[in-house]
Amino acid sequence: MFIVETQKIIKAELVIIGGGIAASSAAVYYGRGASDDKKKQSYLITGMFGGQITQTNSLENYLGFKGTGMEFSDLIYKQVEENFINSNIIHDMVTEVDFSKENQYLIKLSNGNVYKSRSVIIATGAHHRDLKIPLIEKYRDRGIYYCAVCDGSLFKNKQVMVIGGGNSAFTEALYLSNICEKVYLVHRGEDFPRVESLLKEQVFAKKNIHIIKNANLKELKGDSLLKSVVIHYKNNFQEEIQVSAVFIAIGFIPNTRIFENYILTQDGYIFINENQEVFDKNKKILKGIYSAGDVDDSKYRQGITAAAEGCKAVLNLLKYLRTIDN
Ligand SMILES: Cc1cc2nc3c(=O)[nH]c(=O)nc-3n(C[C@H](O)[C@H](O)[C@H](O)COP(=O)(O)OP(=O)(O)OC[C@H]3O[C@@H](n4cnc5c(N)ncnc54)[C@H](O)[C@@H]3O)c2cc1C
Repeated sequence: MFIVETQKIIKAELVIIGGGIAASSAAVYYGRGASDDKKKQSYLITGMFGGQITQTNSLENYLGFKGTGMEFSDLIYKQVEENFINSNIIHDMVTEVDFSKENQYLIKLSNGNVYKSRSVIIATGAHHRDLKIPLIEKYRDRGIYYCAVCDGSLFKNKQVMVIGGGNSAFTEALYLSNICEKVYLVHRGEDFPRVESLLKEQVFAKKNIHIIKNANLKELKGDSLLKSVVIHYKNNFQEEIQVSAVFIAIGFIPNTRIFENYILTQDGYIFINENQEVFDKNKKILKGIYSAGDVDDSKYRQGITAAAEGCKAVLNLLKYLRTIDN
């Protein structure tokens, strides 16, 4: 339990933590479904609004929208403003939480304010693990990508590379093998112990997936677009390979650090049930706390699934609030 100065405590019905697609969807559904009294005491606390989707220059698989991630983020911000109480959108980071007392959940912001809330929606998303190599920033979106489903179609019949040796890398390689001429799968180790056997069989059976083991990506080359990469093998051999894109799939890190004392996670992701409810460390439901989006979703990690989870979390929350209010 963190120490709070009582004068700084703000009473709340709901605090949504996050400002990506999941949090925005939750805010829109809540804004439309909750009474005005409840809305007045509800807050959306967001770090950088828009979240991961702002990193892409071409969002083409979200139904009803085509454009850049920033344009999409601007549109959803307007929609949140129209449906959620404007002044209750707080641009700040949550630094600490205390979920030890049911329906008196404490959420502390970096500005020192503390919210005591009956309910919470966690939608803090995730960030991808990155490679530390020169020019990675220069080629982001110009040859360096993190999501085959999102950006793979830009490289139809081209040669591409996937970096990683886990389920994500194998899934990305398999997906790309149906679009691209050739897919190099580069893994720093010798074996793939963490990859599911069926997935392994599917990848090994693909004629256009070429697996490179015991190697690391060291250099990116090109002009304004990526043209080739240099691979260093463990035996000191180096090789330059022509590729139009590299998909980095060395893992995602869900943003759960501030919740780790209170919430059950699985492989780092928040563990949820079918109602988006979360659990404490003793596997007991934390009543009134829900999760949505990439922070709990290790499988799909798409804009549309994050939006769906935000919707589900709020519809279940509203139902829960009705039961405790009556
Ligand atoms: C490069 C890239 C391209 C992509 N392209 C596509 C695509 O084409 N199509 C598609 O469907 N999906 C795409 N995705 C995936 C998609 O962006 C994500 O699945 C989706 O945005 C997840 O939304 P989210 O709200 O769950 O989390 P995030 O987008 O991660 O948002 C989390 C939010 O929480 C905030 N936050 C985190 N911690 C705190 C805290 N302590 N306090 C306050 N706020 C906090 C962050 O600032 C952020 O606003 C792409 C992802 C990347 C990285």
